[in-house]
Amino acid sequence: MGETMSKRLKLHLGGEAEMEERAFTNPFPDYEAAASMAAAGAAEEPGCDRPPPTPDEFGLPFHNDGKIIPNFTRRIQTKIKDLLQQMEEGLKTADPHDCSAYTGWTGIALLYLQLYRVTCDQTYLLRSLDYVKRTLRNLNGRRVTFLCGDAGPLAVGAVVYHKLKSDCESQECITKLLQLQRTVVCRDSDLPDELLYGRAGYLYALLYLNTEIGPGTVCEAAIQEVVSAILESGKALSREERKAERCPLLYQWHRKQYVGAAHGMAGIFYVLMQPAAKVDQETLTEMVKPSVDYVRHRRFRSGNYPSSLSNETDRLVHWCHGAPGVIHMLMQAYKVFKEEKYLKDAMDCSDVIWQRGLLRKGYGVCHGTAGNGYSFLSLYHLTQDKKYLYRACKAWPVQFTFSPTSSYQRHHGFQRLNLALRRWIKRCKKTERPNWTKSHQIA
Ligand SMILES: [Zn+2]
Repeated sequence: MGETMSKRLKLHLGGEAEMEERAFTNPFPDYEAAASMAAAGAAEEPGCDRPPPTPDEFGLPFHNDGKIIPNFTRRIQTKIKDLLQQMEEGLKTADPHDCSAYTGWTGIALLYLQLYRVTCDQTYLLRSLDYVKRTLRNLNGRRVTFLCGDAGPLAVGAVVYHKLKSDCESQECITKLLQLQRTVVCRDSDLPDELLYGRAGYLYALLYLNTEIGPGTVCEAAIQEVVSAILESGKALSREERKAERCPLLYQWHRKQYVGAAHGMAGIFYVLMQPAAKVDQETLTEMVKPSVDYVRHRRFRSGNYPSSLSNETDRLVHWCHGAPGVIHMLMQAYKVFKEEKYLKDAMDCSDVIWQRGLLRKGYGVCHGTAGNGYSFLSLYHLTQDKKYLYRACKAWPVQFTFSPTSSYQRHHGFQRLNLALRRWIKRCKKTERPNWTKSHQIA
């Protein structure tokens, strides 16, 4: 926390040009090779009394049916416990004013909310409440998005209070969140449309509430108003740039037409394609789809994507810039338009991430290994292809084997642990009930 705006910008824009090698070489065989090694190992010495080797002895962290092996689950649980302790220690000296979900206290509240969700342990919900109360006392009115603005604390606060059955407080958060709407839809404002600081980031908060609390928590009219503002803004820039034919929805941030999830079109289209955003079919087909295709056509030969339409350097493989963010747009396009080409491109993204995604920058979701591993899990959920589960299992522990290049990056990464943990814990729960005794809980 305590990250200044200029530091954030520097990280997002890949300003660390001096860092020649951005990623560790992936030391693992890919799934097919690992699976054949496991099969060969399991087949040797027929009739031998020795118990057959377990999948993890051959580098496979799951059984044939996709269930995670207990050893691997235990390793993850132990690591989560260790990291939570380290995180709590780090928080003692953290910036008290950073209330964002992205790098601050709301992110911590979100983490404990998720721990409560998967363990049903009320201690975690109360811990989440402690953090969320702190953020709600510190709303600053500077930004409007889920990740970096007041919408994050308000949306997470509404969900935490709802789970505690404090409906009055929950409603108060929702009312305050909706009061931001006027600024968001104002046509004369210079608010961008991207996910981190712009309209799509506010829309995400509204959709989050309807998912977490229930449909209708935020009325359709409010969602429609924000969707219209985003569409109008995209059409206007497209016309201005004379790209209406090729890319009917065009967006920019700081005068640059970014491609990636954080500041670019991939993040905006991903949110617009959410069923809960209720964008009508004609708009999806006539406006969103050709614009998604326009982005697709800008991909590098490697399968990676540029940070902006004008950038031709195939360098960044981050959630914020590159394949690990664009993959989520492609997977959503596949779900909405049911065309194989989107899935094929998403799989190509996954190959790039597998080859170049073990980042030296840190553990975080935005530009760290966890964010890149997250893409494998998402693709596994979509395809049920164990190759992607394998890649995710390998990407996760490796980040604790290799050290990020500075203490700042280590610290930074811990703030963003929540999203990655979310999926992991879910998976552990599916395969083996976590044995999290009282001694594993945070006091
Ligand atoms: Zn980033």
